[in-house]
Amino acid sequence: AKSEGRGVFRFFEPEMDAVMQRRLSLEMDLRRGLEAGEFELFYQPVVDAVTGRIGAFEALVRWRHPGRGFVPAEEFIPLCEETGLIVPLGAWVLQRACADAVSWPGSLKVTVNLSPAQFAGAGPGAAVAAALEASGLPASRLEVEITEAVMVRDAPATLAILRALKSLGVSVALDDFGTGYSSLSYLREFPFDRVKIDKSFVSDLSRDEGSAAIVTAMIALCGSLGMATTAEGVETVSQMAALGSIGCTNLQGFLFSRPVPASEVPALCQRLDEA
Ligand code: C2E
Ligand code: CA
Ligand code: CA
Ligand code: CA
Repeated sequence: AKSEGRGVFRFFEPEMDAVMQRRLSLEMDLRRGLEAGEFELFYQPVVDAVTGRIGAFEALVRWRHPGRGFVPAEEFIPLCEETGLIVPLGAWVLQRACADAVSWPGSLKVTVNLSPAQFAGAGPGAAVAAALEASGLPASRLEVEITEAVMVRDAPATLAILRALKSLGVSVALDDFGTGYSSLSYLREFPFDRVKIDKSFVSDLSRDEGSAAIVTAMIALCGSLGMATTAEGVETVSQMAALGSIGCTNLQGFLFSRPVPASEVPALCQRLDEA
């Protein structure tokens, strides 16, 4: 233990110290930003693969940093997860997304990403219920997205939490399918309404016959289990056509729209639904 201690100690010499310092200052900046209201939600439409109409918008968080401009989610979400800041940030995202969606036309849904850290303890049920209650959004218009990492952490606890969410009337999607610790048995054991096919498969669709075969099989499997499928990262007309022809039910990606600020949602609905 002594020598191990020395080895570990040596690791924290200058270079490591600088890394830790940067993380610590980013963490303090995140806390400050959360209090100062620097986070914002952008929304990306999810369209019906057959009719092209928008059925939902995915909420994607952005950090409008006073000095650095918009910081993308992938640069701060991992640190928020490690530090536990994702819990208050995630609660804010739920509140904001439900409050925004309540004014959208018709039966448009909003989808919200939940991270594994939000499933610690009693899980996100209370935050979801509070956001629905405060906004007045019907539960049927909220969908939550989780990744395989949530189930890997604690499958029985996750199952109980997802069942509780579903009993509120919220629907549940499995995000980034195919990238993680995929076990096909998850699809049978967990009550998913939808599976989101990761954009890495979509981008390889036309280039690589193997990817096309995998995506075709995933969509057929999900369909036969009664689940809807959203393909992520659709950027080209040929990807759209290929996904439509193999029965993918919904499409999302830059081909339709980049994520936009909440204020642009009504105009986007008009543009896409009249196209
Ligand atoms: P994700 O949930 O898989 O979100 C999709 C990501 O793909 C988004 O990146 C989106 O902007 C991007 N994207 C959409 N269409 C296309 C396309 O056609 N091509 C390409 N190349 N990319 C596309 P973003 O917004 O940077 O988010 C990254 C990740 O950060 C998300 O991946 C999600 O895991 C996480 N995240 C974002 N917002 C939240 C949040 O509110 N809570 C939590 N827990 N995680 C979030
Ligand atoms: Ca997502
Ligand atoms: Ca995804
Ligand atoms: Ca992702």
